[in-house]
Amino acid sequence: MLNIQDVQKQFPQLKVAVRGGRLVYLDSAATTLKPQVVIDRLTKIYSSEVSNVHRGAHDLSDRATTSYENARETVRKFINAASVNEIIFTKGTTEGLNLVAQSFGHAFLNEGDEILLTEMEHHSNIVPWQLIAKAKGLKIVAAPITSQGEIDLEGFKNKLSKKTKIVSFCQISNALGTINPASELIRMAKEVGAITVIDAAQSVSAEAIDVQKLGCDFLAFSGHKLFGPNGIGVLFGRQELLNKMPPYQGGGSMIGKVTFANTTFLEAPQRFEAGTPPVAEAIALGTAIDYFQSLGLENIKAHKKNLLAKATMMLNEIPSIQLIGEAKHKTSVISFLMKGAHPSDVGPLLDQQGIAVRCGHHCNQPLMDVLKIPGTVRASFSIYNSEDDIEVLRKGLIKAQEILL
Ligand code: PMP
Repeated sequence: MLNIQDVQKQFPQLKVAVRGGRLVYLDSAATTLKPQVVIDRLTKIYSSEVSNVHRGAHDLSDRATTSYENARETVRKFINAASVNEIIFTKGTTEGLNLVAQSFGHAFLNEGDEILLTEMEHHSNIVPWQLIAKAKGLKIVAAPITSQGEIDLEGFKNKLSKKTKIVSFCQISNALGTINPASELIRMAKEVGAITVIDAAQSVSAEAIDVQKLGCDFLAFSGHKLFGPNGIGVLFGRQELLNKMPPYQGGGSMIGKVTFANTTFLEAPQRFEAGTPPVAEAIALGTAIDYFQSLGLENIKAHKKNLLAKATMMLNEIPSIQLIGEAKHKTSVISFLMKGAHPSDVGPLLDQQGIAVRCGHHCNQPLMDVLKIPGTVRASFSIYNSEDDIEVLRKGLIKAQEILL
């Protein structure tokens, strides 16, 4: 089991007073706090290891390049990709999804082709596809969800056809906490020959990710949701596909030969890493992954499962609270409404008590439309949350209820 007090000691931000008291941080689905090892690694790089990568003729540059490429290997192992050439450093999930939509879309999608999403997608797994759909005359299709907040598998299957060229979905919903049956969805998508794209923004810190076992073609995640820095993320792509895809952006470090008449490009991953990358952030992402793995995924999952069960029970005991999303397989992300109050009014009242949650549509406006609600209050629990935090949330909600209802 995780020793929560030990884990909490690793996160200096938990010691910073908020609203005059202890911070109860229940917003890890938006971004995670950072452990001291990651902060230390960033500080060390920026204070003594600064250099560009892949091009310097000096010792510091060689060392930075080695650290940067070691981080790529750490990511490869973490998601069990077959080769480091399948690991592209990006700004985050959003950039990874845009890269696939633009690069693959321009090269391989044609008028009338369909892109199958689900009703529980984050805007960053909708809008990039809409941009390419508009440019190329493609059709976006959304697979339905059930009233429990799970993908309706029959509905999903019915939306698949020979026209479906891309199937893109979140492995875990940031708004509902639902863990989707990724392997099964990928298998169904492959039956019609579609390319599969996984939004792993939420799952990367909740589930074991094995891209070879999943059999997906692309998978994107962000470092900042995995205890790592902002501005760094990863796109996994199958090498064979990546090397057929045109660059997403042009610039230095991604070229073979440039003349004014023509340019040739390096193979992946360099082809997709134009310009100076976020060197320190990539290296510190490697540190974050090491830290995360040192805690043991099974311990993390057991801890989150316990918090999910206790928090769900606590919320169910408050009559004014209505849970939104009650999938059988869920991670420790809980959305709810306070009946008779707007979700945006609940958040500030919790904030006044030092409880950080998120309120609103969570970048899932189409999902909120399907559910016919304006938004939710979302409490998301991570490795540094304890059962005490659930009790603070309970008291906070009772107080908010007294004011609002
Ligand atoms: N997909 C999901 C499911 C997410 O939760 C998020 C972040 N909230 C994103 C995509 C986008 O991630 P980022 O903003 O880090 O690019």
